[in-house]
Amino acid sequence: MSDRISDDTGRASGDNEPTPRVALVSGGSRGIGRSTVLRLARDGFDVAFCHHSSPEAARELEEEAARHDGGRVIGRQTDVRDAAAVRELVAFTEESLGPVDVVVTSAGITRDNPLLLMKDEEWRDVLEVNLDGTYHLCRSVVFGMMKRKSGCVINISSVAGVHGNATQSNYAASKAGIIGFTKSLAKEVGRYGIRANVVAPGFVETDMTAELSERVRKEAEQSIPLRRFGRPEEVADMVAYLVGAEYVTGAVFQVDGGIVL
Ligand code: NAP
Repeated sequence: MSDRISDDTGRASGDNEPTPRVALVSGGSRGIGRSTVLRLARDGFDVAFCHHSSPEAARELEEEAARHDGGRVIGRQTDVRDAAAVRELVAFTEESLGPVDVVVTSAGITRDNPLLLMKDEEWRDVLEVNLDGTYHLCRSVVFGMMKRKSGCVINISSVAGVHGNATQSNYAASKAGIIGFTKSLAKEVGRYGIRANVVAPGFVETDMTAELSERVRKEAEQSIPLRRFGRPEEVADMVAYLVGAEYVTGAVFQVDGGIVL
């Protein structure tokens, strides 16, 4: 008879190998999510991530992760706007890797326009991906975390959600919504050993900021005391810190080079 003891999640313990912890990252195929996937895998997590419309980037990430030591990395196409699809993503992660210990919501889009030119679909798309997507994923993992009396939620917001930004009323509203949502979640589930925090990046070198004109970019750099955009790995550093920060919850951490918007 095996001397391994399984907990109610089917995980085994009782041997010398520590059970790998499991992380789930939305929007993990590119940018900040991608760096987060690689960082958590390097830190020993088995990591599932979702992407939406770039299967090549997802495959490339799986291959990149396989070349390094660290946890397993698997991707799955999932539109975070779709609540049922997000529930399936969580079920897929749990069947493939085990119960989710850490969730990072990085899937996000921008559709910038001054308010008077804003199209209804630009408003809706941004709110649906950024805010509804965050809600869907947290809603789908939190019950399991409550049962296990442990969990770590890290939601990616933006300095635009803290300070606002001209031409980004839709984006700023979604990102401010993430902050209110996460603080409320932290208050609701802290007693179950679950922490929920926000990372609010400033300008970071990803495809999202590659669209900026040279003029906007120069102006932005002038407003950053460190005089440069951040690197996605520097946001992943903050995520990794929060994973281990056992007495931190309901907090918002700006990773922004000291930007003054
Ligand atoms: P990015 O490079 O454009 O990557 C966005 C990621 O989100 C991709 O993996 C993309 O997957 C995924 N995604 C988009 N729509 C999705 C959907 N409907 N369902 C599932 N996944 C979806 O963006 P990033 O710059 O890394 O931004 C990551 C997060 O940080 C976002 O929440 C963003 O708002 C926030 N942020 C970024 C900056 C910045 O300067 N870059 C600053 C502040 C905050 P596909 O490619 O497959 O569609």
